[in-house]
Amino acid sequence: MQDCLFCKIANGEIPSKILYQDAEAVAFADINPQAPHHVLLIPRRHLASMKEVTEQDGALLAHLFVVANKLAQDLGLSERGYRFVTNVGPDAGQSVFHLHFHLLGGRPFGWPPG
Ligand code: AMP
Ligand code: ZN
Repeated sequence: MQDCLFCKIANGEIPSKILYQDAEAVAFADINPQAPHHVLLIPRRHLASMKEVTEQDGALLAHLFVVANKLAQDLGLSERGYRFVTNVGPDAGQSVFHLHFHLLGGRPFGWPPG
């Protein structure tokens, strides 16, 4: 999709610190980290947010969760724990309209989120 920041990161047009990539998914460091580890995980295919997810995306979503699980293990987060979230729409503060999951770890997180 033209003029999508995360599509451009996924295809290398805009540089980022890529931590993992394969045919379906890309993980890169958040430019404004909110925790010692803050990774963004995206599908290469443009979906504006979770609002566009359908039953047909099941395999893709499972893949993203498996990649996140491996990343968390590789970053040494699995034992202490981490948060894996997606923001949808204005109340959640979504600012980039390409589906992405935040993988946050390396410090405790409060619940409920503020
Ligand atoms: P959200 O607010 O859930 O839409 O998350 C968007 C995230 O993208 C924020 O945490 C930003 O810090 C991050 N972000 C924005 N621009 C970039 C960029 N060029 N490279 C990496 N992360 C970015
Ligand atoms: Zn996009």
